[in-house]
Amino acid sequence: MSEFEVIEKHFRSLTMGRAGTAELLDDAATIEIPDGYELVITSDTLNEGVHFFDGEDPENIARKALRVNLSDLVAMAATPLCYQLNIAFPEKPSDKWLESFSKALHEDNRLYNIYCSGGDTTSIKGGGLSISITAMGIVPKGCALRRSGAKAGDFIVITGCVGDAALGLKTLQESHEQKLYEDSVSRYLVPQPRIEASNIIRRYAGAATDISDGLIADCLHIAKASGLGAEIDIEKIKFSQCVNRAIDNRFFSIEEAVTGGDDYELILSVSDVNLESLMGGLRKINLNPMVIGRFLDSKLGVSFVNSGTLNIDISNLGWQHF
Ligand code: ADP
Ligand code: MG
Repeated sequence: MSEFEVIEKHFRSLTMGRAGTAELLDDAATIEIPDGYELVITSDTLNEGVHFFDGEDPENIARKALRVNLSDLVAMAATPLCYQLNIAFPEKPSDKWLESFSKALHEDNRLYNIYCSGGDTTSIKGGGLSISITAMGIVPKGCALRRSGAKAGDFIVITGCVGDAALGLKTLQESHEQKLYEDSVSRYLVPQPRIEASNIIRRYAGAATDISDGLIADCLHIAKASGLGAEIDIEKIKFSQCVNRAIDNRFFSIEEAVTGGDDYELILSVSDVNLESLMGGLRKINLNPMVIGRFLDSKLGVSFVNSGTLNIDISNLGWQHF
């Protein structure tokens, strides 16, 4: 199958018939943006052996490549619209691989009401499979949520449990009994971007970012961008059953849970006034939001209260620990 046959057979239908894509028969696509909105654009690349295991299930690769991008759009309070799909193949892909890969993207197109606007298909020498997606979303003009929008005294809210993806990764790497932590493994393999939170956080949050680098590191991103510090109450962070079980079994630690990445929950800042509306809105869409601390008027990075016997090594990121 030639490059053009691959595009025609496996990628054309991902356009969901949108006119601006010209069924991938033109050099580029056009995208219409409604009056009063602006485009939000983000890219993420997944490389074999770095971001996913060699020989990983193509459906999982497809979903992860797309969803990590959607998570970035949501963190800007945008509504996802479309994406460019750029793939470098180290060898000719099989029809079966391409079928599974594009089927998963097609399902996510439906799930998130998005389409593929185009992309690039190339070969790569001496490397693994590389997939780069550029996703685009729209947001009412001037309403994108920035990391810099937190104010001193704002609460720190997360939209759900953290640590599962790191536990899932550790489980796969150390081939511990996978059944025991299977929910965490699937959270690692197939992220669940909090798409429906977009409209709620746009109304009520001051700053937002998604948890891709880890709770502490990403909290620090908001704090730094806003010129603030942050104080997290460790006891307010509730972990999933899987993570608690792994901590009880001494296979995993709280430290790993709060520093591990890839969870794709959101970290938000919210004022006193908006806290209840934000929490209520997030619960209504079946999320499990938690208030875990506050942003402070200090430049001391992220510090902890109630850390008790926790011995979190935070020195190399400039965090404070007491
Ligand atoms: P060029 O030679 O100018 O790079 P291509 O032949 O790569 O053009 O692309 C032709 C059309 O196919 C374009 O509309 C492009 O967006 C689309 N396309 C190529 N690769 C992909 C892909 N992986 N996914 C979706 N669309 C693709
Ligand atoms: Mg090309």
